[in-house]
Amino acid sequence: MEKNHWDVVIIGGGLAGYVAANYLGKTSLNVLLLEKGSKVGGRARTDVSKEQYFNMGPHALYKKGKAKPILDELGVDLSGESPKLSGVVVQKNEEYQAPFSPGGLFSTKLLKFQDRFKWINVFTRLNKINADELAGMTYKEWVQEEVEDEMIQQLLFVFARIATYSHAPEKVSAKVVVTHLKRVMGGVLYLDDGWQKMIDQLHNKAVLSGVQVQKKANVIHIESLEVGKQRIKLSNGEEIKTNRIIYTGAPYDLKKISPITDALHNSIKNMEPIKAATLDVALTKLPYSKRKFGMGLSEPFYYSVHSSYGHLSKDGQSAVLHVLKYLHPDEDLDVNQVKGELEMFMEKMQPGWKNYEITSRYLPTMTVNQRVPLPKDDGTFRSARIKGTDMYIAGDWTCDDSMLSEAAISSGKRAAEEILHDEMG
Ligand SMILES: Cc1cc2nc3c(=O)[nH]c(=O)nc-3n(C[C@H](O)[C@H](O)[C@H](O)COP(=O)(O)OP(=O)(O)OC[C@H]3O[C@@H](n4cnc5c(N)ncnc54)[C@H](O)[C@@H]3O)c2cc1C
Repeated sequence: MEKNHWDVVIIGGGLAGYVAANYLGKTSLNVLLLEKGSKVGGRARTDVSKEQYFNMGPHALYKKGKAKPILDELGVDLSGESPKLSGVVVQKNEEYQAPFSPGGLFSTKLLKFQDRFKWINVFTRLNKINADELAGMTYKEWVQEEVEDEMIQQLLFVFARIATYSHAPEKVSAKVVVTHLKRVMGGVLYLDDGWQKMIDQLHNKAVLSGVQVQKKANVIHIESLEVGKQRIKLSNGEEIKTNRIIYTGAPYDLKKISPITDALHNSIKNMEPIKAATLDVALTKLPYSKRKFGMGLSEPFYYSVHSSYGHLSKDGQSAVLHVLKYLHPDEDLDVNQVKGELEMFMEKMQPGWKNYEITSRYLPTMTVNQRVPLPKDDGTFRSARIKGTDMYIAGDWTCDDSMLSEAAISSGKRAAEEILHDEMG
C-alpha cells in the first residue's frame, strides 16, 4: 500500500472515535485517528486545574445502559460510586425534599399525601413501558397523556432534564427520553479521576493495538477519488488517502467538509444541539456538608457534589461540584446573566461558598448532545454507513434510540462492525 494510504481513517478523538478505533485495532486493518485538538477526549475530557479534576460539566455514566457493557468488553476498568438522589428541589425560592429517593418521597412537602402515590405509580409504569411504542410522540405529549397533575408533570420534566439534559419537552422524542429515564433508574456512576480515565485507557489500548493517533490534525476537506478511495485534506496542507472514513465530528460541520447525500443533508440541516451552561467549582470544603444534590423545579438548574462519590482531586480532600443551567434551543443567551444565575443557585445550595473557592470554571455554551432527538427522527439513523459512500458516521447524534455517551459509544462500535462486515463482503 502506498505511503499515507490507510484502510480506515477515523475523524475525531472523542468517545465514538476511540471506541471504533479499539474495535478496528483488533483486526489487520491499518487505522489512523485524526483529532483536531491538541488533547484527545472531546467532550469526555477532564481538565486539571489547581490539582482539581474538572470534567466538561457534570458527567455521570449509566450503570445499566448500552455503553457500560461495551467499555467492559474493551477491558476499560472504571471505578466510582453512585450518587444518591436525596437532596432538594427548589421552587420559587423555597426548598423541598426531592422526591427522587424513598426517604425524600415520604418526607417531602412538595407533594400532597395522595399525590405521592400518583408519583410512585408513574415510576412503576415507567419501568414497564416499552419505549418503542412511544415513537412519533414528544415527551410533553406523553407526560400530559400519562398524568394530569401539574406538579407531577413538572417533576417528570425535571427527571427528563437529569437523564437527558433536554429542556425542550415540547420538541424532544418521548421514545428517547423514556429509554434514558429507564436507564437512569438503574443508577449512574461518578467516575474516579473523571472521564479522562476512560479516554486514557481507550487511547492506550488503541495505540498498543497499532492504531496511529495524530493530534492537531484538523480535517477541512474530504474528496471521493474513485470507489473505495478518498482523499482527506488537513488544515496544515497534509493529504491522506483512505479506503473508508468514520466521521465523529459535529453534524453541521460534515456538510462543510464533504459532499453528502441529499437525504443526509435534509436530516442534518434542521438539527439543533442540546446546550447547557456549566459552572465547575472546587472548594476546600463544603460550607453545608450535607447538601449534595439539588434541582430547580420550574427553573432549569442542577447542582451536585461529584467528589462525594468519585475521587476528583489529587489529594482527595477538596469538594468538586457542578452547577448547570439547562438551555432551551430557542433561548437567547446572555452569558453574563446566566453566570450570575448559576452563582446564585450555588449560593442557595452552599451559602458562603466563595470563601472556600480553590478554582472554578464557567463554560457558557457547551454542546451536551449534538442533536435534540425529535419524534420525526425515530426510526432513522439505523445504519452508520452513508448510503452510496465509503463514509460512516458515529457520535452522540447518530442513534435513533439514544443520546449522550450511550449513543457515542454504541455508535462507535456499530461503525466498526459495519466496516468489518463490508470489508468481508
Ligand atoms: C456539560 C455536559 C454534560 C454531559 N453529561 C453527560 C452525562 O452525564 N452522561 C453522558 O452519558 N453524557 C454526558 N455528556 C455528553 C457526552 O460528553 C458526549 O455525548 C460524548 O462525550 C460525545 O462523544 P463524541 O465522540 O460523540 O463527540 P466529541 O466528544 O465531541 O468528539 C468528537 C471529536 O472530534 C473532533 N473533531 C471534530 N471535527 C473534526 C475535524 N474536522 N477534524 C479532526 N477532528 C475533529 C473534536 O475535536 C472532538 O474531539 C455531557 C456533555 C456535556 C458538554
